[in-house]
Amino acid sequence: MEYEPVIGLEIHVELSTRSKMFCGCRVKFGGVPNTRTCPVCLAHPGALPVMNRQAITNLARIALSLDCEIPERSIFHRKNYFYPDLPKGYQISQYDQPFAVDGSLEIALEDETARIGIERVHMEEDTAKNIHAGDSGRIAGSLYSMIDFNRSGTPLVEIVTRPHIHSPRMARAFLNRLKNTLLYLDVSDCNMEEGSLRCDANVSLRPVGTDELGVKTELKNMNSFKHLEKGLAQEIERQRELLEDGERVVQQTVHYDVASGEISPLRSKEEAHDYRYFPEPDLVPLVASQQFVEEVRRGMPELPEAREQRYVSEFGLPLYDAQVLTASREVADYFEEALGLFDDAKLVSNWVMGELLAFLNTAGQELSACRVSPAGLAELLHRVRDGDISANTGKEVFAEMCESGASAAEIIAARGLTQISDESELEAVIGQVIEDNPDQVEQYRGGKVKVIGFFVGQVMKQTGGRANPKVVNELLRRRLSE
Ligand code: ADP
Ligand code: MG
Ligand code: ZN
Repeated sequence: MEYEPVIGLEIHVELSTRSKMFCGCRVKFGGVPNTRTCPVCLAHPGALPVMNRQAITNLARIALSLDCEIPERSIFHRKNYFYPDLPKGYQISQYDQPFAVDGSLEIALEDETARIGIERVHMEEDTAKNIHAGDSGRIAGSLYSMIDFNRSGTPLVEIVTRPHIHSPRMARAFLNRLKNTLLYLDVSDCNMEEGSLRCDANVSLRPVGTDELGVKTELKNMNSFKHLEKGLAQEIERQRELLEDGERVVQQTVHYDVASGEISPLRSKEEAHDYRYFPEPDLVPLVASQQFVEEVRRGMPELPEAREQRYVSEFGLPLYDAQVLTASREVADYFEEALGLFDDAKLVSNWVMGELLAFLNTAGQELSACRVSPAGLAELLHRVRDGDISANTGKEVFAEMCESGASAAEIIAARGLTQISDESELEAVIGQVIEDNPDQVEQYRGGKVKVIGFFVGQVMKQTGGRANPKVVNELLRRRLSE
């Protein structure tokens, strides 16, 4: 029997608001433990939560970007469970009346597009953080644990997809697009190492052609999309082997060990947790008026999908270029600013994708720290197009601009790189090269025209690579046919 993977994702996003969800404490990663706390986020008895309006605005931005419906009224619930990082004994979350429902996000791969349904988007609060003393950093084997409440009460948005994803590759593509969208919306820094973006993946198999869902397992808290893709592939293989051997999949959380590539069961989820959800009596219902939603909608930026399409239709770029350039808002902004000063979209695209991104990649640098501005790149491209320097020299100049921060003009002048297009100057060099290589001249005249490459190479050598290759070719052809 052939099996089809079925995947659904639960994503948690910490919002980068100034203050926490229900109190005025600052939201910020790290810092001296327990310095950004108050009676509300420390769960002192009698302290009352107050909703953060900016967090709700960001939540609405996320919901709209995912094409969700926003009911006029949603409410908060208490999700009860015991854990040291949760001193209230419950997390304020949303349950059967979430903020937004029924959305979707379209993902286009080279050979496959899919519209992934979004089941719900809701608001909750993050817990404090347990710090386990010991070498492993894990609770097992630690002597004692400490709790840092700086994170307690950070606004947390949960996004739950429908089980519409059918390959690990598509899961990764979905997460990339989602992350990119969140960055465009400016609602979270999405830093996975710091836990601003976390993902759990649910996966099951079912016979191809059937609709019923199989028993699922869950991979928790994967810390990179690449690992998640690999872990899913591994877990799908494990389930496939079980089913092919006539065994059954047990509903449970599984752990994917990145180093060994092995899957191991963590705990059985056969008995679902009973969180005893009940309505949060300390908060009023959350009313998202039409006016509020419209206001948020008007303030929405252009999202990656729209921008990608515009790059194809307006600038005539290949889809691949459009995808690479819009994959980050910063890169897309950079590209458009350079394009405003140099009106050849494909050429700007080539340089941004090829030279700029390659440099940032090898240097491990952020674009924001790059020493070449869009105007600087445009200036360089003008010099190349005007024939002052060759494209190859231009690349060298670009690399030096990145390193030193000097302008194209400064580097070209200081290093005497200006391309030689002057015919009389080149004639002299060519004359010498022809005189020095009578054998090759014979070959050329005997019909072996490819040997012209040899002459071009010699001229380049004599001129330190500064000769204009187009002019050199023309002059050589003329001289050699005399
Ligand atoms: P749970 O109560 O175990 O958290 P939910 O019904 O809330 O399960 O679904 C959680 C996530 O798992 C959602 O993204 C959903 O699409 C996905 N999911 C649910 N059932 C399956 C299944 N049989 N196979 C794969 N994914 C599933
Ligand atoms: Mg769930
Ligand atoms: Zn507080």
